[in-house]
Amino acid sequence: MKTKGVLTIILSILIVQSQAQGLILQSKQDKQTASNITLGCGSYDLMQHLDDVKPGFLDLSNRLMQDIKKNISNQGNTRSLDSIHVIPVVFHIVYNNNSENIPDSVVQNQIEVLNHSFRRTNSDTTNTRAIFQNVVGDTKIEFILAETDPEGNPTTGITRTQSDIEYFGGILPYGQGQNQEITDWVNDSLLYNLFRLTNDTLGGKNSWDTDKYLNVWIGDLRIFEPEFNNYKELVYFGLSTPPIDHYNWPDSVLNNVNTYEQGILLHYVNLGANNPNNFPSPYHAYNGLVTSGKMLVHEIGHFLGLRHIWGDGDCSFDDFIYDTPNSSAASQWNCDKTRNTCVDDIYGIDPPDMVENYMDYSSGNCQNSFTLGQAALMLNVLDYYRPELSNLVVIDDVKNNQIRKSFIVYPNPTTGAVTIKSEYDIGNFQIIVYDNHGRSVKNTYSLDNNTINFTIEGSKGIYFMEIISNNRRSTFKVLKL
Ligand SMILES: [Zn+2]
Repeated sequence: MKTKGVLTIILSILIVQSQAQGLILQSKQDKQTASNITLGCGSYDLMQHLDDVKPGFLDLSNRLMQDIKKNISNQGNTRSLDSIHVIPVVFHIVYNNNSENIPDSVVQNQIEVLNHSFRRTNSDTTNTRAIFQNVVGDTKIEFILAETDPEGNPTTGITRTQSDIEYFGGILPYGQGQNQEITDWVNDSLLYNLFRLTNDTLGGKNSWDTDKYLNVWIGDLRIFEPEFNNYKELVYFGLSTPPIDHYNWPDSVLNNVNTYEQGILLHYVNLGANNPNNFPSPYHAYNGLVTSGKMLVHEIGHFLGLRHIWGDGDCSFDDFIYDTPNSSAASQWNCDKTRNTCVDDIYGIDPPDMVENYMDYSSGNCQNSFTLGQAALMLNVLDYYRPELSNLVVIDDVKNNQIRKSFIVYPNPTTGAVTIKSEYDIGNFQIIVYDNHGRSVKNTYSLDNNTINFTIEGSKGIYFMEIISNNRRSTFKVLKL
């Protein structure tokens, strides 16, 4: 009897442990030596999937990161300090039940979290350890809810779609012990299932022009497992599509990337810091760790080119950023400040693992920083690889109580002719056009108070236009096709 009782207890513990994890994470764990597989973001899994479908994708993506590093060092001083890239965001809320139909107030709170995080105005930046103070900074990127829809009509920047689909991760047709089948299903079906969120005819919502808006789809990303006690497994809090090189990559690769709509998928519980939903058991331990709105900060980091701070590998894998310390693996959604898993030399010191960084899997309670290297990379992606996403750059006139003067540059991209128009009556202004080597190729003045027309006569590529008005400067980038 005694033995039977002990066995029952052991079996119960095993069942509880395996149920706490779901079949997909169990199957992943069996394939890897690491015992610390946790829920995470699916952005790198998507890149690996694209590489499986089209071998060479990861190599192209890594070369793109190297190109960006080169761009940053060539760019020189063409970017003025008071330019802010403003990205219009549309949130597509796709819900099956009322609790998933998240109120506007949560979306608005999420925008606030994004802006504080990217501009480094969040109050918890004081928690950044002193050893990192000289490498962290303001990314000069802001977000607004889209104000006009693709047809030019006013919008709240939020769409709402009721869907028949309960679990966008899909229904897993396998049970315990069928690990190979489960792995194959994950490889073949999971991402396709999740991206149903982005398609009207598959129960989701079609994108708005992904070149001009940052599309964020909010939905239930869980997977239903009827062969495993109707378990509802969550594998990804969110995932993002990586930037690609439209101009230089072969169509065969681009076609595979284009299978997935550009943008971000986010599990509905992870939206905002004031979301009324919580993670139910067995995921309740994540409440408070990944529910501060910082998961979307992380995903936008990916959308703008950032890799995970541990480089998705051991100490020999880098995230292509010079001022982030390497680490051997992701944090476990904690704030372990004692870890220093890799030897680094950043400005002559070996800093610890940077749990303050948004691109770790650390708790939102300690995430409060992007580094200047990460900021430079994201800005470069906005200039070269997502050039239409932030074509409004405003002068951030901090000294005069944040009064902003906005300019519109169109068409962008252009075949040569460009119009720059001020939204306000600002007096005459000067334009200096630089090529991407920082050489001045045009210097001209507005003909009336608000508008200037001119032609870029150089070769194809990115140009920077510095606008000078009332002794203030701002820089726009324009892509010449
Ligand atoms: Zn990630």
